[in-house]
Amino acid sequence: MDRFFLKSVRFKIIVLCLLTLVSLFLIFCISIQRRFTNSLYEKIDALILLKAEGIENSIRTYWQTQNMDVTRDWFTSNVFSGEKDIKFERIADYLANDKIRDELEITGMHVDIVDPTGELIASSREFPEVSFLRKKLMARPLQNTRFDDLNITINEGKKVPVRILTKLIRNQSQVKCIVQVIASLSPVITEIHRLKKVFFTFLPIAVLIAGITAYSLVKVTLKPIDEMVKTIREIKSNNLTLRLPVSPSSDEISRLAHTFNETLERLEKSFMSQQQMLQDISHELRTPLTIIKGQLQLALSKPRSPEQYKNVLFSNLEEVEKIKRIIDEIMALAQLETQKFVDEMESIQLGDLIRSIIEDIHPLAKSKEVQLSFTDSAKLILKGNPFQLRQLFSNLLENGIKYNHPGGQVTIKVNNGDGRAKVEISDNGIGISPADLPYIFNRFYRADKARQGSYGIGLGLSIAKSIVEAHQGKIEVKSILGQGTTFNIIFPLTQ
Ligand code: ADP
Repeated sequence: MDRFFLKSVRFKIIVLCLLTLVSLFLIFCISIQRRFTNSLYEKIDALILLKAEGIENSIRTYWQTQNMDVTRDWFTSNVFSGEKDIKFERIADYLANDKIRDELEITGMHVDIVDPTGELIASSREFPEVSFLRKKLMARPLQNTRFDDLNITINEGKKVPVRILTKLIRNQSQVKCIVQVIASLSPVITEIHRLKKVFFTFLPIAVLIAGITAYSLVKVTLKPIDEMVKTIREIKSNNLTLRLPVSPSSDEISRLAHTFNETLERLEKSFMSQQQMLQDISHELRTPLTIIKGQLQLALSKPRSPEQYKNVLFSNLEEVEKIKRIIDEIMALAQLETQKFVDEMESIQLGDLIRSIIEDIHPLAKSKEVQLSFTDSAKLILKGNPFQLRQLFSNLLENGIKYNHPGGQVTIKVNNGDGRAKVEISDNGIGISPADLPYIFNRFYRADKARQGSYGIGLGLSIAKSIVEAHQGKIEVKSILGQGTTFNIIFPLTQ
């Protein structure tokens, strides 16, 4: 048997089933056997009691007739005084041997009648074990009726299990004689053995049948898991599209397969998005690097004037700054995606935060001749990361200025709506076309119009969206091309 099978769930389930079956079977057998034995004993006890009572009745009848007899004085003086009553002995002998053929195994019964001193008056047959037991019983105060079990030796030293009833027969509260009825337990024991034999023949058959059934059931039930293991082994980073087969039944295994497929789907998405991000990054970095390389090659192709070198260096610096900005924003995005900043949340006065951002951004607005106006109709406290929130509002405000005309305007409004903080940032700039609008939150997405003359890299809004979502908020955009754009951000408020 291979050692994996011994450690398998299949093996554990089979062993558990068999152990339960054997324990239940043993409990069943023991209780049936107990009931059966008790009922056989009850029958034997009733039989020997009936026999003893029959003898007692006969003895009492004899005494009554003797009392009425003229020889009553003689009887009283002889029998009750302990002297031998020959007539009584004969009757006792008749009673003891009545219908008993002296073969305990065949008749199953034997009777002894003794006087109160323990002296045997009559017996169907004397057994040394019975007389020994009698002596033992006589030594102690006797109950009126008692049952004992004993092994007695009969022919050729053969031992026979017997049940013995000892019954005291009283006359005027005085013990006059003792009747002992002995019944063989051989038939009872034979029956019990037969029953045990049936049980123990049936047990291995039952275990075998149960084992085969449990094995087949477990095999059928766990077959989908084996298939799952096979498929999972085939899953590598280049074939994350593989899915586990899900059976139509909604049992535990199909739910496991379904959940695993969902996890796989998330992994695939995240893997794809990482791949996409790598492609986007290399694509974005390639353009400035190609420009730098081209300019440097051109500058080195022949001797240049210091002024020309200076221009090349300025142009290269611009491109290097662009590369730095791409790297900074990618870092910010990666940090947001791993949610590293959630531990750094604190209560923030939203109005104050926006006011300080407006102050920082004022020079840019001035250079672009764009006016900023801010209304804070509610002093709202927000639980958030101050650096990330600053980045969020800066990105949106910068866009409002960048994609605007000279003399344009950017308006910021903060208000409390249904227990949530609402921030509206609107501008009357170039607007976004309906074709671009659904994609503006995607990484590195830039609307064609905006591309011209701007040095955005298309990461600002995807960073903004990640920040809002990390704060359990929502961001929406409305825009009309040529008229302006409005961003609505909603945050849950600190309780
Ligand atoms: P970028 O670095 O290009 O600004 P963003 O992710 O911030 O990247 O914006 C993505 C694109 O969405 C921009 O290229 C621009 O076309 C468009 N956009 C964003 N904000 C505005 C706005 N306020 N007005 C017009 N277009 C906008």
